[in-house]
Amino acid sequence: MDAARKHDSTGFAAPADANNRVAPKADDERVTPMMEQYLEIKTANPDCLLFYRMGDFYEMFFQDAEIASRALGIVLTKRGKHLGVDIPMCGVPIERADEYLHRLIALGHRVAVCEQMEDPAEAKKRGSKSVVRRDVVRLVTSGTLTEDSLLDARRNNYLVALVRARTSSAGDDVRFALAFLDISTGEFRLTECDRVGLAAEIARLEPSEIIVSDALYGDSDMVPLLRSLPAVTPLTRDVFDGATAERRLASYFAVATTEAFGMFSRLELTAAAACITYVERTQIGKRPPLSPPVREAQGATMAIDAATRANLELMRTLAGERSGSLAAAIDRTVSAAGSRLLAQRLAAPLTDPAAIGARLDAVSFFIADFALARDLRGRLAAAPDLARALARLVVGRGGPRDLAVIQIGLVTAAEIASRLAQSASASAEIADAAAALRRPDAAVAAELAAALGDELPAFKRDGGFVRAGYDGALDEARGLRDESRRVIAGLQARYAEETQIRALKIRHNNVLGYFVDVTAQHGDKLMKPPFNATFIHRQTLAGQVRFTTTELADLEAKIANAADRALGLELAIFERLSERVVAAAEQIKAAAQALAVIDVSTALAALAVERDYVRPEIDAGIDFMVTGGRHPVVEQALDGPFVANDCDLSPPDGGAGRIYVVTGPNMAGKSTYLRQNALIAILAQMGSFVPATKARIGVVDRLFSRVGAADDLARGRSTFMVEMVETAAILNQAAPRSLVILDEIGRGTATFDGLSIAWATIEHLHETNRCRALFATHFHELTALAGKLPRLFNATVRVREWQGEVVFLHEVIAGAADRSYGIQVAKLAGLPPAVIERAKLVLAELEAEDRTSPARKLIDDLPLFAAAPRASAPAPRNEPADLVIAALAALNPDEMSPRDALEALYALKLKAAEKK
Ligand code: ADP
Ligand code: MG
Repeated sequence: MDAARKHDSTGFAAPADANNRVAPKADDERVTPMMEQYLEIKTANPDCLLFYRMGDFYEMFFQDAEIASRALGIVLTKRGKHLGVDIPMCGVPIERADEYLHRLIALGHRVAVCEQMEDPAEAKKRGSKSVVRRDVVRLVTSGTLTEDSLLDARRNNYLVALVRARTSSAGDDVRFALAFLDISTGEFRLTECDRVGLAAEIARLEPSEIIVSDALYGDSDMVPLLRSLPAVTPLTRDVFDGATAERRLASYFAVATTEAFGMFSRLELTAAAACITYVERTQIGKRPPLSPPVREAQGATMAIDAATRANLELMRTLAGERSGSLAAAIDRTVSAAGSRLLAQRLAAPLTDPAAIGARLDAVSFFIADFALARDLRGRLAAAPDLARALARLVVGRGGPRDLAVIQIGLVTAAEIASRLAQSASASAEIADAAAALRRPDAAVAAELAAALGDELPAFKRDGGFVRAGYDGALDEARGLRDESRRVIAGLQARYAEETQIRALKIRHNNVLGYFVDVTAQHGDKLMKPPFNATFIHRQTLAGQVRFTTTELADLEAKIANAADRALGLELAIFERLSERVVAAAEQIKAAAQALAVIDVSTALAALAVERDYVRPEIDAGIDFMVTGGRHPVVEQALDGPFVANDCDLSPPDGGAGRIYVVTGPNMAGKSTYLRQNALIAILAQMGSFVPATKARIGVVDRLFSRVGAADDLARGRSTFMVEMVETAAILNQAAPRSLVILDEIGRGTATFDGLSIAWATIEHLHETNRCRALFATHFHELTALAGKLPRLFNATVRVREWQGEVVFLHEVIAGAADRSYGIQVAKLAGLPPAVIERAKLVLAELEAEDRTSPARKLIDDLPLFAAAPRASAPAPRNEPADLVIAALAALNPDEMSPRDALEALYALKLKAAEKK
């Protein structure tokens, strides 16, 4: 959904409109002081829904109230009048604010949270009409969330800043820098790309929010892409000011210069600073524990565009479900942080064989010592989400349970570190992780363990989270509070005795505080002498009469004081503990990351053991050799056995890689075969073992996968045009290190069109792109191409015909399918027998005709596709057109008389006619 447009349609993002509706117009129509305050704050945050705190509610007014009541299904009421008109209002209780926030953010809204900044009692002291001071403490946007209830534990929540620079004066060459960060975990990274790579980068990151300058947002070049993304926030130019970027960035990290973080281009600095400024604007004074920005090396990861990701169902299926995706099939992590890291690695497979090898070493290490892996996984499963709890504590949104998360996490880290220390042979990656786990000061965890009680409330304001015995002053205040409660019990007994009213009770409610409660029949007695000297009447209900006494009022004040004091002490302890945690934030964050690495490595080891995966050999060549490969998702979904298949796209002659043309009837297993090889490349390069008995892969730097339109209904845009646009992208970009998967390209149009396009596409891949490719097709004619193109290889999926039925063997062998078995498949599908019989007759007729004009003729007659003739100059030709053109070029109209011109025209016409 396009958030920005949605705002437009509601008129919400248009401040002028909002102002017109709410701004005071006439002096005689008085605006209340509270409304004045509200309007001032609202005017400062025109693009947000304003959550205006009033007591235990966040209230919304005017158009905000109308939008929210519709979006949340809550009742729209009125509160007073503004300029003579009723003010629409709706509100959400603060305990349920997260839930409502979640829904508003998911709908693409932004919310400004406005709190009361002082006790209402303070405001009263300034005069009865004065308004409680209020201020916006935070803007809640989809890219800047920290609350567990608003976040998906298994996904990163990225905010991306996108900037563009022109690299040539002509203005057609552009580069982009992307800065992306997850404030809930502290990751902060930078990358650059060109126009073609931009959509792929965004698809990899799946940002929750993208910020761009107003100018870029309105740029006609960018509009199609930006409007297709979920949450794009345009911001004013100053946020993207390159001149101040370095200073803003340095100031956030409190360093003199950002050079310490590495050398960044001006474009990258601008993007990074935009992120930082947006974080500051939305967090208002709070500084999330961001890591300094790290640049991602260019080309360090496999380029996979959005269509390929969708197509291969990496993170979710075409229908949008996680279940059925590659991520779901391979995720054996036991912690949220591990799951996030696995998703990151899956989204960005590496291209450096050494870096991939380091990850594979870690997996091998845990397979070799699987008992260790199992032990660590047990411990990791019990460890909570350190990184996100830490981020909340740093921005002051943490609670007692977050402190407990840190404590348990640190203990787990220390345990895992010492468990790993017993193993001498850990891989380099795991040894590094173990070192990071040892770094946090054990005293922090010990202090937290000593301070925190066993049962923890959700909010610090609820109190009761500090363990008895931890703090003397707190114990004393609590003693007093509890002691007073005992005194009240004693008082009740004494009053009952003195008045001879056995049913007399001392009770408490929020309106009266403590009171003496008797039934109506005893009420009269207490209102008469001698008791009326002690008991002061407060309230008469239907069956009950309520009194207070001086003694009770004194006691009540004492209890309230003690409880207040106890809570105050607890909050101070909370602050002190938080500060210790925040001071150790760097080490805690590194330990959290190390736990995630160990989770991912042990999870991949568990996967390899469970599903019998093998370690791939990765090198810098362009081989692609898979023996006994399986589809990682289909294999798990099948009831029966999965038929393993080989694939060898390695160069036959040391040059470029091979292209397989895979034929076979519908349902034979062509698509499965194509995809499994792409997925094996992804798994191998993300550092996982692969579903095969052997795999040797020369790193793939770009992966493309496209499916013919007819197969692509789930995406809801199954047009031939999309298929062709996507094929064009491949033919323009694929290079020798790429791997291309084309599944039934040319299916979305008439047979001859489709066949011709598929034909030319294969020739182009072979001659110009020279990439490794798998091409599934139902055009058997294409198999004839293997006779002409040396690196083309025909493969087919075996089927057996048995008593007129087709049996799918799912076995890929060399050779070409000779027929489609379409009629057999149709029969399997239950078409009426009469239709099947008739179809057989028609087919026989068509086949007889086809033998007289087979495609084989084409292959002999057509000259081979001439690859890229553009570079060479056209040879001189002697066609009439050329002569006419040459004569035309020789004319100089400026120097010709009208008569000359007419003669020249006759001469030209003659030339054209002569040569016919
Ligand atoms: P095609 O693309 O040739 O029409 P698919 O690849 O869609 O065929 O496969 C059809 C079905 O056959 C799959 O859904 C799967 O259940 C089954 N299948 C495919 N390949 C295999 C295999 N290698 N082993 C076992 N079953 C397979
Ligand atoms: Mg298919």
